[in-house]
Amino acid sequence: MRFLLLGLVTFALIGQAQSADATPTMKLLLIDGQNNHKWQETSPILKQILEGSGRFRVDMATSPPKGAKKEEMAKFRPDLSKYAAIVSNYNGEPWSEDFNADFVRYVKDGGGFVVVHAANNSFGNWPEYNLMIGLGGWGGRNEKSGPYIRYRDGKIVRDETAGRGGHHGPKHEFTVENIVKDHPITQGMPAKWLHTSDELYDSLRGPAEHMNVLAIAHSDKAKGGTGENEPMIWTLPYGKGRVFHTPMGHDTTSIMCVGFANVLLRGSEWAATGKVTIPVAKNFPTAEKTSPLEIK
Ligand code: ZN
Repeated sequence: MRFLLLGLVTFALIGQAQSADATPTMKLLLIDGQNNHKWQETSPILKQILEGSGRFRVDMATSPPKGAKKEEMAKFRPDLSKYAAIVSNYNGEPWSEDFNADFVRYVKDGGGFVVVHAANNSFGNWPEYNLMIGLGGWGGRNEKSGPYIRYRDGKIVRDETAGRGGHHGPKHEFTVENIVKDHPITQGMPAKWLHTSDELYDSLRGPAEHMNVLAIAHSDKAKGGTGENEPMIWTLPYGKGRVFHTPMGHDTTSIMCVGFANVLLRGSEWAATGKVTIPVAKNFPTAEKTSPLEIK
């Protein structure tokens, strides 16, 4: 019995040591607290996806609710310096000037920034934020915000046509097509894959400086879209920082897609380190078939 116990203790210690070795080294901060989407439902799943990879630890920074007094918002100033990248699931009222300045400095100095879905609706009037995200929607965005970015005849086009920034038809499954196949994020992924039901954001506008569009989706007029190929995954530098942006991820169905989850993981690792070591998921969706994500 004593031997057996000893054996169990040894096993437990080794187990611990092994898990200590595999302890995620990258810390991420997920910002939420205001969104016209159900952030209370999506944030825990985003966190679970990220932590489930074993590569990230995710802290949450939840802002005061919409309509909070300015003094309350002023207290929302999480310390960004501890994190390899910041993930935004925030679409709401302006942060304090102090926190805006912290945020700009953090990314400029080499921090990673991950933008998901309606996070690109935020801060239409904050020039530095728009430079960081490349493109955004709603929030008063129009031709003054910058061009539309479309993929036509195998080329990225800056479309300066006047009009609103940000639109989508009803949710539906759609095909994501990787147009850059040798970027660390997309390398090894199927060139085309079917995404679970999501809003296909179209007509986003912004400064779009130094944007590297990795993937697009055809916004079908029959599905309330533009008839254009709209950017779905892109990266861009901001100062020394790296930004990874996907307008996908409307709700729990949209984020519980093996494709979305894998893109989020690889994009977050790239934003944090400039490299990608997280493998392409074995059950990645194909051109014909979606791959809903099961979370235990
Ligand atoms: Zn949405």
